[in-house]
Amino acid sequence: MPRPIQAHINLNALENNLQVARRATSARLMSIIKADGYGHGMLCVAEALSASDGFALLGIQDAMRLRDAGFRQPVLMLEGFFGAEDLALICEYNLTCVIHSAWQIALLDAYPKNAGLDVWLKVNSGMNRLGFTPQQASQAMEQLRRHRAVREITLMTHFANADEARGIAEPLALFNDFAAPYRVPRSLANSAALLRYPESHGDWVRPGLMLYGASPFADAGAQQFGLKPTMTLSSRIIAVQDLRAGDEIGYGALFRAEHPMRVGIVACGYADGYPRHAPNGTPILIDGQRAQTLGRVSMDMLYADLSKLPQADVGSRVVLWGEGLPVEEVARAAGTASYELMCALTDRVPIVV
Ligand SMILES: *Cc1c(COP(=O)(O)O)cnc(C)c1O
Repeated sequence: MPRPIQAHINLNALENNLQVARRATSARLMSIIKADGYGHGMLCVAEALSASDGFALLGIQDAMRLRDAGFRQPVLMLEGFFGAEDLALICEYNLTCVIHSAWQIALLDAYPKNAGLDVWLKVNSGMNRLGFTPQQASQAMEQLRRHRAVREITLMTHFANADEARGIAEPLALFNDFAAPYRVPRSLANSAALLRYPESHGDWVRPGLMLYGASPFADAGAQQFGLKPTMTLSSRIIAVQDLRAGDEIGYGALFRAEHPMRVGIVACGYADGYPRHAPNGTPILIDGQRAQTLGRVSMDMLYADLSKLPQADVGSRVVLWGEGLPVEEVARAAGTASYELMCALTDRVPIVV
């Protein structure tokens, strides 16, 4: 019998969430499947989202796997290429590249074919991570337009605060000012902008998180948008301890029982991707009932309070997040983001479709 932890991926929920995106926009959908499909497994996500108009990710090996699996849509490399030696594969596999820095344009002469590379020129509209400032971007645009290797240019930017109260007004105006003279496709919106700011949709939207059933907003849950959870991380109780008043649990004795109580030992720890910094009181489901974690999460196990669950015992099913327990809620309790929880899942957790 294998260790009972698993991540169950709900393919219908992925399809549903793509439909939610489809209904929210008339732009084309570039589904973001970086970080192994936000921890779900890239290829199974791509299959479930095969109605997407394109896919975006980071590594060439992943892009090649996608092509080898038969996907014909545009495949966008979100950080473009990393050296001139990547360009032969980019060409062979017909991959689309973000161009975010002058050094990449300088390397483009190594592209092996005439007129073949589709590029997305990235404009830095205030996030100051990747991209050309509007001042620098005009020159980059001219260079790309003249370049023998470049076929189609799309203009893109990425918002730093689309999920926050600040919104997108400033960067949107900056980007639109820059893009106004050019008759090329545009792409701006991540999940948050797709859901809240139709004026940012342009020609391609780039949903990520929402496809995985989580809301990017602190003030609105996934259900409000009709999004369904796609990953359920579950395990089981493998031991029960009967504590006396005054007993402590776990490394650092972060929890001390005030009266006699039962705690369940759950086969899930930080080596599975559960956050070590999740404090006492992080929500958890045991046999479908709400409960809380106690003490410090260890490498392979964590503690669950069974005080209010007299039926719970060895073998009880535990949901860490997913069906019945939104990943956003666990993320909030643990002081992190649902993005990080889903991506943090480690290789030893079997993915079950
Ligand atoms: C990751 C990413 C996205 C998707 O963002 P979500 O918030 O997950 O929707 C979109 N665009 C770029 C450039 C990204 O890196």
